[in-house]
Amino acid sequence: MTWWELDAWPQPVRWDLENSGYQRAEDLMYWPAPPTLYQQQVKNKLTTRWAAHDHYDAPMAVRQVNPAFGNISAGLFSTADLLTEGRLSPDPAAGKLTVNLNHAVVKIETAGHTVTGVTAQDLLAGKARTYKAKQVVLAAGTVESAKLAKLSALKDPAGLVGTGFTDHPVLFTHFAIPAGQPWHRFDSCSKTMSRHKQASATAHSYNILLELGADLNHGRYLDPETLAAHRRLKGEAMFCEVVFLFNAPLMNGNRVDHAGPSFVKAKTTMAKSPAADAFWNEANDLKNEIIAEFGGIAIANEGISLKPGGLGGVAHEVGTLRMGDGATANSSVVDANLQYIGYDNLHVCDLSVFPTSPAANPTLTLAALAFRLADRLKGLI
Ligand SMILES: Cc1cc2nc3c(=O)[nH]c(=O)nc-3n(C[C@H](O)[C@H](O)[C@H](O)COP(=O)(O)OP(=O)(O)OC[C@H]3O[C@@H](n4cnc5c(N)ncnc54)[C@H](O)[C@@H]3O)c2cc1C
Repeated sequence: MTWWELDAWPQPVRWDLENSGYQRAEDLMYWPAPPTLYQQQVKNKLTTRWAAHDHYDAPMAVRQVNPAFGNISAGLFSTADLLTEGRLSPDPAAGKLTVNLNHAVVKIETAGHTVTGVTAQDLLAGKARTYKAKQVVLAAGTVESAKLAKLSALKDPAGLVGTGFTDHPVLFTHFAIPAGQPWHRFDSCSKTMSRHKQASATAHSYNILLELGADLNHGRYLDPETLAAHRRLKGEAMFCEVVFLFNAPLMNGNRVDHAGPSFVKAKTTMAKSPAADAFWNEANDLKNEIIAEFGGIAIANEGISLKPGGLGGVAHEVGTLRMGDGATANSSVVDANLQYIGYDNLHVCDLSVFPTSPAANPTLTLAALAFRLADRLKGLI
């Protein structure tokens, strides 16, 4: 997220993210392979052709670095991997980590201003257990954290728990670069992120992701048979995608509601944010220019019109336990330290705390917030 996306965030959070938070999160999560020659060529092309924008290397789930596809690709990240590695670490602090698999949390137990326990159903043993800790972090995701807050009847003086459930609008199209075109590659790919130099909360407030050769940077194609099947279907063309992601304020009419026991799914109500509407023509023109510049053509039966991404489709929805700076009474559920207002020992750390739905993909910011909270908890335990 950049400065204008952070405008509506509490100042101390913004400063921490910009000063060192993002750097720490990148050091943890993003182990980039050096950009391939193709990636650099694409970036150079973008920089020359669209000088009004800044162009960056975007993180990839997978970056094929070996044309023979014989090695494990760079860029894979797994939380489960980090946790289990931490469990194996000789560091005595890391070694104390316990992961209770197959435990569904059903209630946060409270007395006054204190969380006294967390009750979970052990799904294998078929019994409930209550765990106690000095500090509790609620991190079940935007929908489930709000549901647990409601199930547990946590304090909600302003009626904000579960409201503001918002996903940023996304406009995209696929296209193909046929073999023989100068930008076609059979064994390389690029993924770039572009942003207008004059972008602000009201002008050009979106990011552009351009993936050329997306068949080589998605995890599903690590399986050679899937990749071969994909290529048979698509022919000799390189599969590409251009995506516009828009910054969006929370929509208070959107909600997560819950009635009934914990195993019942929460009821979600989400309308599309209008944040992209004013920029549709601008995005459409850019999309057409980009496809033409790289010699792209429509993929059979798809066309190259801009299409809206499905709401919640890639789990970017935020805001059900929103963060605020505490300056305005009852304007947020957690404060700038992610502490649940009204409880001494409860914090929240997942996308539910985002007070806006940024143009940026959200996970790096969440990792930076987690680091920030970890620093605080070290002082509290
Ligand atoms: C297909 C796909 C692609 C994506 N690509 C990107 C990307 O490229 N970049 C990016 O930034 N983001 C991406 N995202 C989004 C990213 O995955 C989310 O932003 C991130 O996982 C949200 O983290 P979270 O902690 O809020 O929730 P989650 O990751 O959903 O974590 C919540 C956890 O709590 C557990 N849980 C829930 N309820 C309970 C309960 N009652 N008891 C016990 N445990 C519970 C869940 O099992 C889950 O493990 C993608 C998501 C999807 C689905």
